[in-house]
Order: sequence, then C-alpha cells, then structure tokens
Amino acid sequence: MDRRGLLFVLSSPSGAGKSTLSRMLLAADAGITLSVSATTRPPRAGEVDGQDYHFVSVERYAEMVSGGDFLEYATVFGNRYGTPRAPVEAALREGRDVLFDIDWQGAQQLHQAAERDVVRVFILPPSIAELEHRLRARGTDDEVVIEARMERARAEISHWDNYDYVLVNDEVAACFAQVQTILAAERLKRARQTGLVAFTRGLMG
Ligand code: ADP
Ligand code: 5GP
Repeated sequence: MDRRGLLFVLSSPSGAGKSTLSRMLLAADAGITLSVSATTRPPRAGEVDGQDYHFVSVERYAEMVSGGDFLEYATVFGNRYGTPRAPVEAALREGRDVLFDIDWQGAQQLHQAAERDVVRVFILPPSIAELEHRLRARGTDDEVVIEARMERARAEISHWDNYDYVLVNDEVAACFAQVQTILAAERLKRARQTGLVAFTRGLMG
C-alpha cells in the first residue's frame, strides 16, 4: 500500500547512547536509512566520507548554505553541520523513512520545515554519573573533550520538552524496544498511509 515516509529524529546529550540506538535501528530495520550530514569537522579515526558524514571544507559548506542545499544546519561544538535536502525529499516521496542523528537545534528546524513528517525522540541517561561513565568507557575522547561534553550535557538536557517522546536509556535492549515501538506506531498513523483512500474505497465497493 502507498505510504508517506517519516523523518525520525534521535537526539541526546553526548554519551547517552544515541549512536548505539541508531546503529541498532539501522541494522534491524530495512525500511529506514540514515541521513548523512555534511560537516566541516575533520573525520575521526574510522569514519568514512559519505557514510558517517560528507566531510566538506568551510568554503563548500558556505556554498551549500547559500545555495539552499540544507534542510537545516547548525553550529555544534564550534563545527558546522547540515542536513542535505535532496535525499530527504526523495525518501519522503518514495515512502521511505529517514533517521536523523542531529542535535536539538536541528530537531527544531526540521520540525519547522516539515512538521507533519517529523517524529522527535530524545534519549536521556539514567544519571549524570552514568553519562560520564559511558563517555569514559567509550574511549574516543580525551579528558578535556569529556569535560566539555559533560558541561554541555546539562544544557542539552534542558531541551527535553521540545521532543515528542522522551526515553531513559538505562538498559539498552529495553530502550531499543521502546524506539521500535514508537516507530511502529508512527508508521501506522492514518495520514502516513496514503494508500488507505484507494484501499477503503475498494473495500466499500
Ligand atoms: P552518543 O551517540 O549519545 O554520544 P554512544 O551511543 O556512543 O552515545 O554511547 C556512549 C557509550 O555508552 C558507548 O560506549 C556505548 O557502548 C555505551 N552505551 C550506550 N547505551 C548504553 C546502555 N544502555 N548501558 C550501558 N552502556 C551504554
Ligand atoms: P559529532 O561531531 O560528535 O559527530 O556530532 C556532534 C553533534 O552534532 C551531535 O549532537 C550530532 O547530533 C550533531 N549533528 C550531526 N549532524 C548534524 C546536522 O546535520 N545538523 C545538526 N543540527 N546537528 C548535527
């Protein structure tokens, strides 16, 4: 049956588990693909251009902004990030869902640009101590970066009430099950099942 895709936003303070949950969702669900953002930040070890991000120069980024190529864009931690518009619009038209790993500014702008298509989910850590523990256990950041992320975490958490759903990522399997439940229910919304008009017409004869 024909359907309209949805834009599924996962945000969280750094370290709460957004990347982990995104990876699990992409692996478990063939119906959703990741929106690959453009960024001016340099790649981290293991990151692949075109897969994790489109790594672009500051000049190229500015061109993309002025050309209207971004659906939303923001500066985070002093680096620029933006969501390319074209792949998202194509996915919506073709009835495919798109996952966004973007911050609260991006979630807000995306909601302004495409309100009825957006589902916003915010992931909280069970405690500040556990958030710090996870950042250290991940082992990707040095002490200075961890301290900066912890400082920003409180500010990020303050945006919790701009989201449609708020989850506490205590036990990862349980939290992931909740993410899947939200996605399943949102897909069933009448407005997204565009084929229902023809289908019900057929049923009514
Ligand atoms: P984010 O993308 O929000 O910055 P990550 O997904 O990278 O966070 O998670 C940070 C660290 O915490 C990773 O090492 C990850 O394996 C771990 N982690 C994620 N969720 C949980 C959980 N529910 N319980 C314990 N550790 C977790
Ligand atoms: P990182 O550099 O650690 O990959 O990402 C830093 C922050 O930028 C994260 O909170 C991430 O969600 C956010 N981010 C990544 N891409 C985009 C984007 O295209 N737009 C917005 N608004 N935020 C983004």
